[in-house]
Amino acid sequence: MAQALLIFKPDAAHRLAVRAGIWSWLRTESEWSIKALTWFHPPPELVRSHYDFLQARPFFPWLVDFMTGLPVLVGRLEAEPAGLEQMRYELGETRIHESRPGSLRERYGIGGGVNVLHLSDSAESGDREIELWRAYLPLESVDAQLPTESERPDHTFHLRSLASQYGDGIHADLAAQEIMRLLREESDLAGDRFEALTRVILGAFTS
Ligand code: GDP
Repeated sequence: MAQALLIFKPDAAHRLAVRAGIWSWLRTESEWSIKALTWFHPPPELVRSHYDFLQARPFFPWLVDFMTGLPVLVGRLEAEPAGLEQMRYELGETRIHESRPGSLRERYGIGGGVNVLHLSDSAESGDREIELWRAYLPLESVDAQLPTESERPDHTFHLRSLASQYGDGIHADLAAQEIMRLLREESDLAGDRFEALTRVILGAFTS
């Protein structure tokens, strides 16, 4: 049996219809079993260690900001190695413009590295990541109660198009304003937390 670390990244944790859609998939537990799921605000040193192998990449500072800007949902799963492979297939490729049509990332990701979920890519990385995260939280029980439906809209495809304009510097200010308006409709964050969500999403397209 393999174990894997799962993280609803800030975009999936706080865009409520997206969170509900992903949770509906996850809770089918078709070839895996959810052993833990809890809210947690990761500190920068943990995210830096987790993504140590990406330190030299130009988007690394953004990635650390993205993963530490807001509380996220962190979980532990168990699956046969083939089940974990199936989950990664259903998740889709890392970069949204390369993600397989019908995959979770193609369906819900906004673009760049804003790609909804982290899921360990092998049993070995699952063991390593869970050991690392367990120094910060127990990962022993399902504490988070998530609805499987949301009355909030899902603006993924509109956000993707606007984010691409924003990244290309085409009507960038207007695109940013419109992105903020749509994210406000999708989430229930306010104040500093809403500002953090918009900062980490917009930052993906300029880093
Ligand atoms: P994963 O296992 O599919 O999450 O992919 P990796 O382990 O290679 O990358 C970790 C995370 O870094 C990704 O999920 C993205 O959030 C981010 N990332 C990877 N490549 C890029 C990139 O080219 N641009 C940006 N902005 N983020 C990236």
